[in-house]
Amino acid sequence: MRQLTGELLALNTATLGHRQKFSEIVEQVAQAGFGAITPWRVEIDEANPQTNAQQIRAAGLQVNGYCRTAYLTGIDDNACHKAIEDNRVALNAAAELGAKHFIAVVGGLAHKQQSVTEARKQILDGLAQLGETAKQLAIPIALEPLHPYYAAERSLLNTITQALDWCQQLDSDIFGICIDSYHTWWEPQLESAITAAGNKILAFHVSDWLVPTKDPVFDRGMPGDGVIDNRTIRNMVEQTGFDGFIEVEIFSKDNWWQQEPQKVLETCYQRLTTVV
Ligand code: ZN
Repeated sequence: MRQLTGELLALNTATLGHRQKFSEIVEQVAQAGFGAITPWRVEIDEANPQTNAQQIRAAGLQVNGYCRTAYLTGIDDNACHKAIEDNRVALNAAAELGAKHFIAVVGGLAHKQQSVTEARKQILDGLAQLGETAKQLAIPIALEPLHPYYAAERSLLNTITQALDWCQQLDSDIFGICIDSYHTWWEPQLESAITAAGNKILAFHVSDWLVPTKDPVFDRGMPGDGVIDNRTIRNMVEQTGFDGFIEVEIFSKDNWWQQEPQKVLETCYQRLTTVV
């Protein structure tokens, strides 16, 4: 296992709750000792991403991922088409920022949509179309399976094995997988699924599952405060040869998003280098 030091750590900006100006976030993340940042679309001026790219470079940070796709499911073809176009804009921004990958959170059932089968087909069709753009831009798309709690509203991609199966169906080396410990820790075949995912693993996100959780979406914990054995999972991921950033991503409406950003960053850094 690698010894985790700052240059191997990435900060997903959702962890800070999107409360500050992007330039401020970039400075603080760099000062806290992280090597990379993963911004969200809401923070980036996608009409002119060069300004943001320059801010990040000037702070000495790399861009790990870019978050994330608009959902690929829709009530009709027009809605799906709009989502694909929107995602192409994001892919362009990811390329301008120099991101290592673009995160795909694929979508659950669209409003009033009933067929899970149809929704999954829309997702795969949409990904296939996006894959062509991603290939031209050389921005890998990291398919992120989300915990089954999220299936109806956010993602019909729910396990690592399903993500690997989709990578095979999509049959393009531009697709890989993002493993987030929060979403996958419970998988009964976790180790064999990670081993099978192997060199398809593009990203690794960590946080913790609090017990009891107040909200499976917005009450994530700091690594070390919940039930996830992040170190064992990181070991499984690194055993495959993964040598990317270890990225902390915490949605925490009532706790960490209420705390001073500097304190959040310091705590993240300390936990990443001791319990993950
Ligand atoms: Zn994640």
